[in-house]
This record gives sequence, structure tokens and C-alpha cells, in this order.
Amino acid sequence: MLDARIPSGPIEEQWDKCRFEMKLVNPANRRKHSIIVVGAGLAGAAAAATLGQQGYQVHCFSYHDTPRRAHSIAAQGGINAAKNYRNDGDSISRLFKDTVKGGDFRAREANVYRLAQISLNIIDQCVAQGVPFAREYGGLLDTRSFGGVQVQRTFYARGQTGQQLLLGAYQALEEQVAAGRVTMHIRSELLDVVIVGGRARGIVTRDLVTGQIDCHAADVVVLATGGYSNVFYLSTNAKASNCTAIWRAHRRGALFGNPCFTQIHPTCIPLSSEHQSKLTLMSESLRNDGRVWVPKKKGETRAAKDIPENERDYYLERRYPSFGNLVPRDVASRNAKDVCDEGRGVGPHGQGVYLDFADAIQRLGLDTVREKYGNLFDIYERITGEDAYTVPMRIYPAPHYTMGGLWVDYHLMSTIPGLFVGGAANFSDHGANRLGASALMQGLADGYFVLPATLPDYLASTALDPVDVSHAAFTATKAEVKGRIDALVAVKGKRSPDSFQRELGKIVWDDCGMARSDAGLRKALARIPKLREEFWHNLRIVGADDELNQALEKANRVSDFLELAELMCIDALQRTESCGGHFRVESQTPEGEAKRDDANFCYSAAWEWKGSGQAPALHKEPLTFANVPLSQRSYK
Ligand SMILES: Cc1cc2nc3c(=O)[nH]c(=O)nc-3n(C[C@H](O)[C@H](O)[C@H](O)COP(=O)(O)OP(=O)(O)OC[C@H]3O[C@@H](n4cnc5c(N)ncnc54)[C@H](O)[C@@H]3O)c2cc1C
Repeated sequence: MLDARIPSGPIEEQWDKCRFEMKLVNPANRRKHSIIVVGAGLAGAAAAATLGQQGYQVHCFSYHDTPRRAHSIAAQGGINAAKNYRNDGDSISRLFKDTVKGGDFRAREANVYRLAQISLNIIDQCVAQGVPFAREYGGLLDTRSFGGVQVQRTFYARGQTGQQLLLGAYQALEEQVAAGRVTMHIRSELLDVVIVGGRARGIVTRDLVTGQIDCHAADVVVLATGGYSNVFYLSTNAKASNCTAIWRAHRRGALFGNPCFTQIHPTCIPLSSEHQSKLTLMSESLRNDGRVWVPKKKGETRAAKDIPENERDYYLERRYPSFGNLVPRDVASRNAKDVCDEGRGVGPHGQGVYLDFADAIQRLGLDTVREKYGNLFDIYERITGEDAYTVPMRIYPAPHYTMGGLWVDYHLMSTIPGLFVGGAANFSDHGANRLGASALMQGLADGYFVLPATLPDYLASTALDPVDVSHAAFTATKAEVKGRIDALVAVKGKRSPDSFQRELGKIVWDDCGMARSDAGLRKALARIPKLREEFWHNLRIVGADDELNQALEKANRVSDFLELAELMCIDALQRTESCGGHFRVESQTPEGEAKRDDANFCYSAAWEWKGSGQAPALHKEPLTFANVPLSQRSYK
């Protein structure tokens, strides 16, 4: 039975109560505890810096050559907080409600409320660090709107919010590195978690430059290793983002929460060639001012400028007058797919819709639009060769964010005691659909505020035997890691890791992407094991394992994607309802909206690994909605 450890009492008081009841570690004793933090993106860097500042011995690992290269740097649009600086009706309760509703009632209420509360502290923390948030003329912090809400609560730093926040976290981290409380291990990839006496007590890593396999012991392990959208091969994520850390922890006993909950982002630059290896996001913030439309006529061949107003369909404004272009991502994505499927898509393959700034430029002036979104327009021009100030952007949905991840309780601890999970790596507070600008909020809430409170409680209340890397569990786990690498190198087949990932991505995109059906998922479930089988017989890795070898790195990661993809399809198959980003074609309202089935699916799915070739076991965390009553979402 899963115990989410949700504190009792009114939701508004739960976090304070929990913090008060948790045990503390005396400042003089903190340096005696060692903590491994894997990941130095926003969640990991924030956690490592804060725990270092508290006085623990922190070891922070990243496969990047510097924390500044973590995928978090790509975040563009902004970070939410219920500051209500605009006096437009925002509050903690409203952010809480918007997030529960935005996630289509598949997130844990207690966590979401805490997130909304902590959002206030995050902005203060970041401002104190010197993060250059956009300001209004008078000096006050500026905000803008994101999808699924009717207030302006998104703080931003041009289209580079993630970068600026990461620089803030990085500088806090480096301060602790200089103070000797955090040791950075860069270019070190976690390949397994070591369990001693049922608790996470360390990790096994591979040095990406020398290929050396090392063991590291600690009292507690934190994974903040990001999301897994690259299972689709083509996604907006950094090319290196992968699932290895959480998947290997899953194989060691950590339950995997809602693996099929993935988010397809509506505003990406459409695919231009079969050979493309990456998709680029155009931030959702653009939907503040850009208007989405397609021609009314199917098979339209005229250029956008030649299509008169009365022959354009501003379909989001038409179908959702209350929210218009700022409907949540799942709704915007599905609608874009629908109009393209009807034959009204634009661009070379008909897989695109317009995002048009002509009105905004006329209303606000070119300079204002450039000031707000200039770098996004530059990115767009560099990729498409088109000037979006004069012709509308073309956008199409693409895999972006994974709401699934390792299941964690209210303390952010996985089902392996001593293994905590933060940021996009956990199954998160976003339910079946994440609202824009909420990932940065969650990553920083976890890293700066939640983990630094819950992890000491674990340390203070657990009797931990001294363990070092000479323990048999380390030797055995290291041998398994080495065995897997040797097996990959030994295949000596014909296909590159990339070619397997590309084929896998297409299967997952086609059958477990924007729309899922019983037949499609069964088809994918028949194909994935065959592809995995081929992978282990026909993989080709050039080079050796004792040197910098990116083909080997990729192969290792693809071997995990090949297992995770199957679990995603199994999860999607069992959830016969539609909810948020999980759209089962068999479960829709007469208007084509996602139709939930609360009677049967009001739970988080938490899957248990049962061994290679064995069916995973499903555990359910029932969800109760005492504060935001269950209702059918409507953005009309
Ligand atoms: C293009 C784009 C734009 C976005 N814009 C926004 C936005 O405007 N607002 C918003 O809220 N969200 C946005 N997001 C989402 C947000 O950026 C991410 O969800 C968030 O940054 C994730 O942070 P993280 O710390 O959890 O993970 P990451 O930033 O992905 O960091 C993962 C870290 O883990 C390390 N790591 C991973 N695996 C291993 C391993 N096996 N061994 C060692 N180290 C490992 C990596 O080196 C890295 O340091 C955007 C995402 C994208 C792709």
C-alpha cells in the first residue's frame, strides 16, 4: 500500500505542520552526513547549494561539463508565482486551483497547494540572488500570461528565464563549492543506484572522458535528473536528456508514477525533414500576443498575407472564447492536430498552423514586440529563414515535458527509503497536464525549499550504519554496470544507437503520442520488444569503453528508453479514460474534448519493476479532491 505521507489538517496548514513536526539535524552534526545529488539543473543545483549551505557534505554529479549546460537553461517563457503584483485576483488558492484543474485532476492536492505557497518564496529567493527578471518602467517586476489561467502571474527574463534562473542557482552552488561543502563531479554519469539494507546508500558512475566506473557512498541520494521526452526521439528537450537515472532506480525498486503522462507542446517549429534530430520550442509566452489561425478552406495554397480576414479561422478564439489563444497546452495541441488532420494545415507538409503577430505589432508597435520576444523571433528566423515580424510563424505540437517520473511521497522520497527525487525527474505536481511556467516553479520549490526540509528529517530519524564503497553491494552493482557496458560493446552489429532511438521514437509518437487508442497501443506493445531484441543483437558501437565514447553513452541511454517506452504504453493502455495530455480516442466528449472517468481512474499509477521480460505490477495511489471539487474542465 502506497503511503503518500500527506499531513493531516486543513490544506493551508499542512506544509507548516509538516515542517514543524519534522526532525532537525543539529548544525554541528550536519557535516557528518554525506548527500549525493545527481543533477545540476535547476532542481539539483538548488538542492545541492541549499544543503551545502546548511552544512552537509554534498557531492553533486552531472554528465555535463558544467551545471550551466543543464537542460534547464533552455527554458524560455517564465516562472509562475502567486504574488498578485498585478492585483488581478491572483492568490495562492487560485494558483492551486488552476494547477489542479490544469492537470485535469490527476495530481495530489496537498503537493500542489504547497507548490503554490512556496511560489512566493521562490521569486524572493531569485531576486535576492540577482536574477534579472523583467521589470516595468517604474521598477516593479513585470509579469505576463501563460495558458490555462486568467491572471498574469508569470515572471520572466525575456525569453531566457531558465538561463537566468540557472545562473542564480549556479552561483549559489559555486559559493558552496568554494566553501568546500559541495564537491562537483562533472562528466560523471550515474548508471546505477546502490541499495544497502533496503536503503539507497550510493551510486555507480561512469566517467565520460576516461570510461572509468566508480562507486560513491553517502547517507542519502537525491535524483534531480530531468525528464524523458527524448523517448520520442524528436522533442524540444536537450539532445542528451534521458531516462537512465530514474529508470535504473526503477529497476532497483523505485515505483514509476504515471509514465504515460507526457506533454505535447503546441508551439514548436514544425518538422522540416525526415532527417531532423531535434525540435525547437517557441515559448508559450508568444500566445500572449500571437493569434493562432488556419485557412478556412482545405488545401489552401495562397500565402498567409493573401488570405483575407474572413477566410481565416482563429479556431482557438472561436472554440474557447474565455481563454482564446491561452487555452492549456493539451487543448491547444489537440486542436492544432485536428485542423491539420482536416486538411487545413499550413506549410510544406500541411503540418503547421499560423501564430500571427500582425495585430500585436499594430497595437503595441514593433519595438515593444521585439523587446518582449526578440530572441524567440531570432531563433525562429535562424531555423526557418523567415522573418516572423512580417509573415506569421508556423507552429506545430511536439513532445516537450514528461509529467511522469519516479513516484514520490509528500517528502519527495521514492519507494526506496533514502532515495529522494526532485524536479522533472519525479512524477511531479502537474497531474496529466502541466501548465506553462510551472516546471521551473516546481524544480525550484523542490530544490530550494522542500528537499532541504524533508531530507534532514530522514537523516535525523533514521539509524544509518556506516557504509563505504568496499561494501559487497557496491562491488556487485559495479559488476552489473560493467557487465551491461561490456554487453553493449560486444554486440558488434550494424545499426547505430541513433537509428534505434529514431525508430523507437516514431513508434511512441505514432501510438502513444498526441492521441492513443487501444489498437495503436497494442500495436506498439508488439513492436517495442522486437525492436529491443534487435537492439541487443544488431547494435553497433564504434570505439571502446575506456575512452570518450558518445556512441556508447547513447546506446546505454537508448537501452533504457527501450524499456521505458514499453511501460509508457502499458500505462496508457490500462488508463482507458482521457485526461489532460493523455487523450484516449475512445474516451471523448461529443465536442471532442478529453473525457475523464473519475469513477475508475481517479488515481496515480505507480508501476513496480518485476524483472526483464516480466509484466510490471500496478499500484494505485487514490486521489481525493476535497478542496477543488472534481469537475469537467472547460475553457470555453
Ligand atoms: C525549450 C524548453 C523551454 C522551456 N520553457 C519553460 C518555461 O518557460 N517555464 C517552465 O516552467 N518550464 C519550461 N521548460 C521546462 C523546464 O525547463 C524543465 O522542466 C526544467 O528545467 C527541468 O529542470 P530539472 O532540474 O528537473 O532537470 P534538467 O535541467 O534537465 O537537469 C538535469 C540534470 O541532471 C543531470 N543528469 C541527468 N541524468 C544524469 C545521469 N544519469 N548522471 C548524471 N547526471 C545526470 C544533467 O547533467 C543535468 O545537470 C522548458 C523546457 C524546454 C525544453
